[in-house]
Amino acid sequence: MKAFRVNFWMILTLIVASIGFLILIYISSFHAAQLATETKTVQPLVVLDAGHGGEDGGAVGRSPVPEKVLNLTIAQKLEKKLTQSGCKVVMTRNSDVMLGDHSLSTLRERKASDIHKRFSILQANPGCTFVSIHQNHFSNGIYSGAQVFYSKNNPQSSVLAEQIRKSIVSQVQHENKRKNKAATSSIYLLAHAKDPAVLVECGFLSNDSEAQLLNNSQYQQKMADAIASGILQYLQSKNEHTASVPNGDLYSSDSSGIISKKAG
Ligand SMILES: [Zn+2]
Repeated sequence: MKAFRVNFWMILTLIVASIGFLILIYISSFHAAQLATETKTVQPLVVLDAGHGGEDGGAVGRSPVPEKVLNLTIAQKLEKKLTQSGCKVVMTRNSDVMLGDHSLSTLRERKASDIHKRFSILQANPGCTFVSIHQNHFSNGIYSGAQVFYSKNNPQSSVLAEQIRKSIVSQVQHENKRKNKAATSSIYLLAHAKDPAVLVECGFLSNDSEAQLLNNSQYQQKMADAIASGILQYLQSKNEHTASVPNGDLYSSDSSGIISKKAG
C-alpha cells in the first residue's frame, strides 16, 4: 500500500510538471508567432501610370516624339529601379496603347473610358502608392522645370510629392523652384484616388532645351532615378512610422467629404 502511494504521488507530480512544461512551450511559441507577424516586412506596392497612349498622344510641343512615348520610357525605367529595390510594381500600360473601350464613337468618350480603366487598376490595388508620369506643355515656351501634383484625399500624398520634389531638385534640376500643387478635379485620377497619389510633370515639352533633355536617354534615366529615390524615401519613412505604430492604418482616409463634394 505504501509503495502504491509513493508511485501515485510520483506519477501525479510528473503529470503536473508535463502539463506545466507544455503550457510554457505553447506560450513561448505564441509570442514568437506574434512577434513574427509584427515584424513581417510587407513588400511595398506601387502602381505606375504612363500618361496617355495609343491614339491619345498627349502633348508634343518642341519634342520630336509625343508625350505618350516619353511617359512610357520614363515609367519603364522607374519600374525597373523600383523592382530592383524590392517594390512590387503594377503598370497601367506597358506598351503604346489606349486603355478602355475602343468601340466608343468619339475620341472624347474613348479618353474618358481610358481614364476610368486606369482608375479601376488603381482600385484593384488597394494600399498602393500611385505615381502618374506626364510631360507638361504651355503656350509660352519660356517655362521649364518639373512639378509634382498631389491628391487631396490622403494626407500622405503631399508627403510623397515633397519627397519626389526634393529628389528631383537635388539630383536633376538644382534651379527648380516650383512648388508642389494640390490637384484640382481636372486630374481625374488624383481627384478620385483614396491611396497616396501623385502626378509628376517631368518637364515642359514647350520649352526647346527641356524638350531636348527629355528626349535624351541619360536624362530620362536621371529623372527616373530621382523619382524612384523620392518614392523609396517616402516608403521608408512610412515604414518607420508603421513600425512604431504596429496597428496604425496609414491608408485610412477621412476624405470622404472631399470626394462627395467633388462628385456633387
Ligand atoms: Zn499628359
